[in-house]
Amino acid sequence: MSGFANIRETRAENTGAEDRELPPELPRESMIFCTQCGERNKENNYQCSRCGHFLHQAPVRYEAGDDGTLGGLIPYKNEYALFSYYLGVFSLIPLIGGVLGIIAVVMGLKGLKHAKSHPEARGKVHAWVGIVLGGLCASVTILIVLLLVIAAFSN
Ligand SMILES: [Zn+2]
Repeated sequence: MSGFANIRETRAENTGAEDRELPPELPRESMIFCTQCGERNKENNYQCSRCGHFLHQAPVRYEAGDDGTLGGLIPYKNEYALFSYYLGVFSLIPLIGGVLGIIAVVMGLKGLKHAKSHPEARGKVHAWVGIVLGGLCASVTILIVLLLVIAAFSN
């Protein structure tokens, strides 16, 4: 039994042999070292071949925004536009809507500016929705407040 275990151990230690087995046309840069145990792995290995440590943060490839499949719908890269959009929607709530609406307009303008300087960020539509909705709700709220003030003073 112990003899079998020994064979396994020597095999594990003899990892240097694996390097020599690699096809010569494989460039050295395609190797990656495990941050956990230092084991050398092929760069496209998802996990370390020795300890199983994840060599890459995630299976990657959700940069779909660049070709417009994902980013066209939701402007992940333009936080101002998104923020403005949601603020604009929330500004439909009475009373706090006025404050949120003003912020939505400011954020929307920033989002538009950002979309202009970073065309890949997108979010123009969201920014405009935020500006229009926010602006509308802010002016309606201000109008209501003004009318209330006038009504209060005229009594
Ligand atoms: Zn490892």
